[in-house]
Amino acid sequence: MTIDEFEKQAHSMVDFMVDYLRNIEGFPVKSQVSPRQIYDALPPQPPQDAESMDDIMSDFKTTILPGITHWQSPYFHAYFPGNSSYPSLLAEMLTATMGAQCMIWETSPAAAELEQMVMEWLRDAMTLPSDWEGVIQDTASTATLCALISAREKYTNFDVNNEGFGNHRLRVYCSTETHSSIEKGVKIAGIGKNNLTKISVDENNAMNPRELEDRIREDIKNGVKPICVVAALGTTGTTAVDPILELSRICKEYDVWLHIDAAYAGSALILPEYQHLIQGIADADSFVFNPHKWLMTNFDCTAYYVKDRSYLVNSFSITPEYLKTNTQGQVNDYRDWGVPLGRRFRALKLWFVIRNYGIKGLQKVLRSHMALAKWLEGEVLTHPDFEMMAPMNFNLVCFRWNPGGKDEAFLEKGNKAIIDEVNASGMAYLTHTKVKGDYVIRVVIGQTYVEKRHVERTWTLIREASAKI
Ligand SMILES: *Cc1c(COP(=O)(O)O)cnc(C)c1O
Repeated sequence: MTIDEFEKQAHSMVDFMVDYLRNIEGFPVKSQVSPRQIYDALPPQPPQDAESMDDIMSDFKTTILPGITHWQSPYFHAYFPGNSSYPSLLAEMLTATMGAQCMIWETSPAAAELEQMVMEWLRDAMTLPSDWEGVIQDTASTATLCALISAREKYTNFDVNNEGFGNHRLRVYCSTETHSSIEKGVKIAGIGKNNLTKISVDENNAMNPRELEDRIREDIKNGVKPICVVAALGTTGTTAVDPILELSRICKEYDVWLHIDAAYAGSALILPEYQHLIQGIADADSFVFNPHKWLMTNFDCTAYYVKDRSYLVNSFSITPEYLKTNTQGQVNDYRDWGVPLGRRFRALKLWFVIRNYGIKGLQKVLRSHMALAKWLEGEVLTHPDFEMMAPMNFNLVCFRWNPGGKDEAFLEKGNKAIIDEVNASGMAYLTHTKVKGDYVIRVVIGQTYVEKRHVERTWTLIREASAKI
């Protein structure tokens, strides 16, 4: 492709992008293809001769697009959103155009320094402690792994990095509702999943601090070193919030690393009315949240904050000859702040988003999502055949159809049938969870451009599907 041909193609690509986003409500939200349908439609051999962009784009539309689930549809209510927005998308175009690999300061000083500044902007907007430092990671799973490894090295005095585990017996704690990335991280960090203690939860699905304290005491008595408590600020199932103040007191008393997993709900901390949730955070050690979930910034973009960078950097830094620079020590070389060496320029999209919305603009979007969720909760509460199944802390509505007089097995089948029917219609996408063993419909209202009419139609679809049971 010549640059002139690129110019022509790039213009028509922008036309396609605009058409796609303008018409996004017309696509089936959840891809309707069956397993292997896409694979079987693809040629088994790569072309030996060059193919035209017209042919490639035409195949993209006919073969690939049907196998896409449309995460930017305002009828996407599944999982948690993977948000985007127009300014974020524009920044991603620039990032791809420059194609810079930002592993160290010298390989693009602006990437390192912009990252430092946007992390500080967000930290201050969320009222995290002003001396904490932030770094952008690919995912919350990676950031939590970094927290676990930092805690491991802190409490073994870097023995594990240097010598391996030896006789160290370490333990990590989280609630039964915490995200599976904690268990994954404990496995990868070599701590072992049998050394992850899951603490029970209360009626609001939040960790029981009494039980945590008992288990920590017991472990210490038995010669096992508690190294880390992972608190959830917004669990994946129901957005439950662990008692951060109480957990930070316990972690301080027993000298345990406190990591806060706010992957989804952390974005809400840009709202003053939610900042009480992080009372006690000054005694925590690390905090993660995903602007790529609910802050209108394209995947991937995870913000990871630490109180004391030395545990992170000393756990991860390596300086082979070819990475030695004159600026070492004067600048942040973010390759030392996480697992990968190579890094995308992710700060750019965050900068575009924060500037183009303004903090007030972002607050307005989040508040509108909360208000829409509140509306749906009201509908559920006043409908005789539906019931709320978990307290609503943010914008996730957990409820089920329950007309009365049916056993649990019937209700599970019925609610599953509602979700399947709505998803098969292509008109909205819902997923489920279990709350205290009961099958529950989850409706997340967090897509960037979702409006009242979308939520109303989804609610109508759910009621229509329930009427067919
Ligand atoms: C989504 C989620 C994660 C995992 O996020 P990734 O960025 O996909 O790794 C972890 N914890 C919680 C609470 C989540 O909601």
